[in-house]
Amino acid sequence: PAKEKINVNNLLDETTGFLENEARYVNIQIVKQYADNVPVITNDLSQIQQVVLNLLNNAIDAIGRDGIITVSTCYHEKTDAVEIGIGDTGKGIAAGELDKVFDPFFTTKEVGKGTGLGLSISYSIVEKLGGKLKVKSKVGEGTVFTLLLPKQ
Ligand code: ADP
Ligand code: MG
Repeated sequence: PAKEKINVNNLLDETTGFLENEARYVNIQIVKQYADNVPVITNDLSQIQQVVLNLLNNAIDAIGRDGIITVSTCYHEKTDAVEIGIGDTGKGIAAGELDKVFDPFFTTKEVGKGTGLGLSISYSIVEKLGGKLKVKSKVGEGTVFTLLLPKQ
């Protein structure tokens, strides 16, 4: 696996950039809340980008039209980890489904629109990178995925 030095805020600028036009088209605003003390981390850039892109695409799907995606970063000094948050004002996930979203082939999307593999693949990638992927959600309010990555 290719390890390189990564500026996480720059990575998020680039990754959200891929989806800017698509988001604008359905009136989804992407709001950035970056911490300014995020250290450079050493990890696999393209794998992290793939996970973030998965989370952003799910957020867009969950909103459909008219909403906000909040992309945030913060640094946890105690654990020496960087946290990326991808929040959305979408439909949310029912409590009974929260523990299934990382299962392979779990999807609530129409046939042909979702494979149900995005989050299970993302979960394995994050484990392999030494990080953690968590989710919190409330039906009708929205969802936040949290991606924790060690500095080294
Ligand atoms: P897919 O996007 O192909 O359905 P994923 O593994 O990416 O597969 O997601 C699995 C399921 O988890 C989705 O079908 C959806 O029900 C739920 N989900 C994922 N992200 C969100 C989100 N941001 N808001 C609401 N539901 C979500
Ligand atoms: Mg998906």
